[in-house]
Amino acid sequence: TSVLDLAAIRADFPLLGERVGGAPLVYLDSAATSQKPRAVIDAEVSFLTRANAAVHRGAHTLAAEATELFEDAREAVAGFVGARAEELVWTSGATAGLNLVAYAIGNATIGRGAPASRRFALHPGDELVVTESEHHANLIPWQELAARTGAVLRHIPVRDDGTIDTDAAASVITNRTRVVAFPHVSNVLGIVNPVAELVALAREADALTVLDACQSAPHLPLDLPALGVDLAVFSGHKMLGPYAVGGLYGRSDVLEALPPFLTGGSMITTVTLDEASYLPPPQRFEAGTQPVSQAIGLAAAVRYLDGVGMDAVHAHERALEARMGEGLRSIPGIRLLGDAVGTERVGLWAFEVEGVHAHDVGQFLDSRGVAVRVGHHCAQPLHRRFGLTASVRASAALYNTPDEVDVFLEAVSGVRGFFGAGS
Ligand code: PMP
Repeated sequence: TSVLDLAAIRADFPLLGERVGGAPLVYLDSAATSQKPRAVIDAEVSFLTRANAAVHRGAHTLAAEATELFEDAREAVAGFVGARAEELVWTSGATAGLNLVAYAIGNATIGRGAPASRRFALHPGDELVVTESEHHANLIPWQELAARTGAVLRHIPVRDDGTIDTDAAASVITNRTRVVAFPHVSNVLGIVNPVAELVALAREADALTVLDACQSAPHLPLDLPALGVDLAVFSGHKMLGPYAVGGLYGRSDVLEALPPFLTGGSMITTVTLDEASYLPPPQRFEAGTQPVSQAIGLAAAVRYLDGVGMDAVHAHERALEARMGEGLRSIPGIRLLGDAVGTERVGLWAFEVEGVHAHDVGQFLDSRGVAVRVGHHCAQPLHRRFGLTASVRASAALYNTPDEVDVFLEAVSGVRGFFGAGS
């Protein structure tokens, strides 16, 4: 039993009825990308068949209608994360959002942007701080920014149980720190990180906070302004929405002072052959033709999630996570990553099956219809910290059932016997 009407929810997702090699699909790879409800698919199709036009220009009726739908979508998606429309920049995804921020800070450092952008400029001896648990998308842009500016990149370690070492954070974050970037939920560990604590340390250091909310936005009620972060990113395709669209949230004073990253059409007021002046946010950060149908699809996704209710989604997924965790702990030879006691979590577990390569585990599960992720999940430093190069990751979403978790557990319990490991 669940707090959700799972039969009704599953009926909304056309792909969940598929079979894989004769077995019913058990989709446990939503942390990589979620399935899409018909409402999202229909919203995109409906826009493309009835209202498609370029937004923010054009004097014709369709263009006005498209602009209205596009800006309504911004308001809906901003509202879903507790923000106002002008605080939400459309991006092509979390990776694009994080690069945007890192390059914009780089531009402030070389003197681009309005005088107010000097507050983001980096100087020799300045430090950027990330955690050991980053997805590469929230690591490499900072490595590159450090390389371009001479700033030093430091990291907060992760404890053996997968929690962020907040004691260490208190000494890694100092008055030299200018940026603290960290995940709300790691895509490998599934633990909800102590945002308030890290934000407090960053504030004391007068550092900018950048939250990677990819793995929380689909699973928890989210209020980014209340969390107190300066900037945050999320990806549409992980939260029931289309590909190639995501959000960058920024507190107004931060977005207003930040120089642009990409430049070109749609982000200017006046252009001469020598120079250009820029629109205020969010348009300043949306150079080029916008992801219009995708934004409208993402709005349909957040309306769908709100319709179910994020508290209920979280409660349901928490129950799946507990069932999965308990089941995995009871199978000999399974080592869970991030098995911390008493932490808030989302519905994902990464694990190692002793004596069996993660890719073999993945194939074995696939032969039973169970779709999981194997590999480093774009978090090589974190895997190295746990002495691994790869792990298996099962990740649930609102449409998964307890029965599916049981099918998954049953399949995992057969892995070591099949491969003759540890018998
Ligand atoms: N951060 C985290 C925690 C993620 O899980 C992902 C996607 N795996 C990303 C960033 C990057 O998202 P995208 O590939 O959609 O840009």
